[in-house]
Amino acid sequence: MASVSAQRVVFFGADRTPRFMTENTHINLGNLGPEEILIKIKLTTICRYDLQILQGRSKAKTPSVLGHEAVGEVVKVGSSLDDEAIKPGDRVSFSLYDSCFKCKFCQSGFHQKCISGFMYGQGTLSSHQGFSGCFASHVIVKRGTKLVKLPDNVSDKMAAPLNCAIATMAHATSMLPTEDAKNKTVLIQGAGLFGIYGCAMLHQAGYSKVYCTDYIAERLKLVNCFGGIPLDLRVKGNYPDDDSIDIVIEVCGNPAVIPEGVRVLKPGGVYMFVGLVNHNTSLNITVGQLIDKCLTVTGVDSYSPEHLEAGVDFIAKYSNKYPFENLVGPIFKLSNFDKAVKEAGNQRFLRVALEADC
Ligand SMILES: [Zn+2]
Ligand SMILES: [Zn+2]
Repeated sequence: MASVSAQRVVFFGADRTPRFMTENTHINLGNLGPEEILIKIKLTTICRYDLQILQGRSKAKTPSVLGHEAVGEVVKVGSSLDDEAIKPGDRVSFSLYDSCFKCKFCQSGFHQKCISGFMYGQGTLSSHQGFSGCFASHVIVKRGTKLVKLPDNVSDKMAAPLNCAIATMAHATSMLPTEDAKNKTVLIQGAGLFGIYGCAMLHQAGYSKVYCTDYIAERLKLVNCFGGIPLDLRVKGNYPDDDSIDIVIEVCGNPAVIPEGVRVLKPGGVYMFVGLVNHNTSLNITVGQLIDKCLTVTGVDSYSPEHLEAGVDFIAKYSNKYPFENLVGPIFKLSNFDKAVKEAGNQRFLRVALEADC
């Protein structure tokens, strides 16, 4: 086969008409580089970050193929990767980033901060033969991308969003103090996908109570199913007491929650920020508050290869205990991308999924 039929959603810009278009094309297999791997995408999900770009609230290069969350099957491996463990036919999850593994940041374990790194869903059509994002039938990944083979008990629905949210939460939870967890309480601010995974991971890590806040009823029901204790923000006063929580993890992306987070932390507590990724957001805490409570404030952005492995292992281990498939809602065809974006925007489901038309 010299080429394969392919499909992709090309994004032109939030201020353009049309904003995007689904096109049918092909990929010439002879052009696959020696250090490239062609993956057929089985299922991809729309992240909150993709929505922000589509709605013009975050910037992206254009024209491009957005999307970074996906599960796929390896079609072809570049000639210099023939002896690697990944083979055609393998069902895989892959890291959001391609990294060099050589620069000072990669060497210190921060592969996501690689000096020459590349994030999938963030390139233009001029890179990776125009298949560098996941809202497509295929994606071309490079040698510095971590690929993890998926066990059979991790379904496509369970696997599609894991290379973003659960791998990041595996990173976040790996940075928390674990000693004496059974006597510690955690508050997660936000029951989106990050918060739900966080509930399950911290519950399994043995923390005594894992509270999780939100104001959407469907999400609060999920908190219950994933080992957390839901706190409905629509109910006034429904928040832990002052100075009662050991660890607060922000994953909601709303700076208005910060004062409450500080208030409930015990002296010596840890405040971890994951969701407030906007560079213009100020941390609404005074130095005096930090000193007074002896707080540790920390930030977590994305993850390194080992955290993707940890995320896959977690879902494989607990696939019967937690309803991971329920975190992904309806599946749309790429040709119905506009409908999928609309559904994702109304927040009825934590993730809306897409698959190629053929
Ligand atoms: Zn994502
Ligand atoms: Zn690097």
